[in-house]
Amino acid sequence: MTDRTTLHAPWALLPGGWARDVAITVAPDGTIGAVAADAPCGSAVPLAGPVLPGMTNLHSHAFQYAMAGLAETRSPSGEDHFWSWRETMYRFLARLTPDDVEAIAAQLCVALLKGGFTAVVEFHYLQADIAGAPYADPAEMAWRILAAARQAGIARTILPSLYRHGGFGRPPGEGQRRFLLPAESVLDIIAALRREAASDPLLRVGAAPHSLRAVTVEELGAFAAAVRRADPAAPLHIHAAEQPREVEECRATTGQRPVERLLAHLPVDRRWCVVHATHMDAAETAALAATGAVAGLCPTTEGNLGDGVFPFLGWRAAGGAFGIGTDSHVGTDAAGELRMLEYAQRLRHLRRAVGASPEQPSSGTALWSAAASSGAQAAAQPTGAIAPGRRADLVVLDGAHPMLAGRDGAAIGDTLVFAPAPGLVRDVHVAGRRVIVAGHHADEEAIATRFAVTMRCLLA
Ligand code: ZN
Repeated sequence: MTDRTTLHAPWALLPGGWARDVAITVAPDGTIGAVAADAPCGSAVPLAGPVLPGMTNLHSHAFQYAMAGLAETRSPSGEDHFWSWRETMYRFLARLTPDDVEAIAAQLCVALLKGGFTAVVEFHYLQADIAGAPYADPAEMAWRILAAARQAGIARTILPSLYRHGGFGRPPGEGQRRFLLPAESVLDIIAALRREAASDPLLRVGAAPHSLRAVTVEELGAFAAAVRRADPAAPLHIHAAEQPREVEECRATTGQRPVERLLAHLPVDRRWCVVHATHMDAAETAALAATGAVAGLCPTTEGNLGDGVFPFLGWRAAGGAFGIGTDSHVGTDAAGELRMLEYAQRLRHLRRAVGASPEQPSSGTALWSAAASSGAQAAAQPTGAIAPGRRADLVVLDGAHPMLAGRDGAAIGDTLVFAPAPGLVRDVHVAGRRVIVAGHHADEEAIATRFAVTMRCLLA
């Protein structure tokens, strides 16, 4: 049996940094067997250029992709902020059918693959039907998200969401009716997805209590415990401290800030991902970092919504882990998210190379390596590094791209993140299979046509 493949790259981003002439052996199941630097190409399959570990997109609400560019108009009052955007989003999602969501998600998944993401974590809260009742199969929407990801070939982690309240101590509003399944139903959906995952090696399943706005700490504790009883390794994701108003309301009703409250009531560990965590004070920053939980940063969405700037320096100084997500999908490329993250910090601190470190002075390289590794952790995917035992989820750059001419090692990582180089991501492998080839996906025309038909109907 000799069906394992050896790939050869002129440069590869390995856990210790960039290495030259790297041979990567991939087993038939898509797992990396051996990695060797300074290896001759010999009979190996040459990759088209430098290779990096695939990036995990740790935060997605797939349906919101269809709204990108549709919520940028000033309102008559001029009071345009996160909360007014959310009202627009609620009106939009009120009409979406499962067919619509599948069409939108498939187009999104292709765009994400082309953007260097090899896995996506769906924070799945659009679960009930248009009237707010469960579908005949309560997992209907989850199956559609899964079908879209499978068609695109991207790895997937699905987190069915628990959402019970409209805000701290407030009943849910009309716009939230499609989120409101009881905890038992959400646990049933999670169980059904887990059974499916037994025969889908690219699927992982966790849970997403929506936020402390939408779930009390008592509900959250019972839900998280039930999820962990069934699967001790299940990832748990929650939105927290995205907006100052959320922090103020949490403090006014409970006496605690959101992250402070989460840490006081839940056994947060490295299988948690706290999404946004934008408005933490210094004590929350240090305490959350110490748990090993991943900060789920969504830089272009946070910029688009006017959320604020994450306390990145304090977080990194405390040893905090971070990954990136595209959340509402106003951006779909991994390098663009990292660039936005870095630039927000530069603007705030009047410094450069904020994401770099003494060990890895290349900003682009340091940001990509850290986000790929911790993103995989948050998604419970066996990826995030080009190393034996990890899955061969790989991003291959176009070695013939003019912007890479004469550039070696760290300069390649910085070019990817900071240089204007359209088309630099050339091939994308998921579990050793090329799903993007020379910038194209095999089903992209059919997927785009279906998406366009869906959009015309939705916007008619
Ligand atoms: Zn979100």
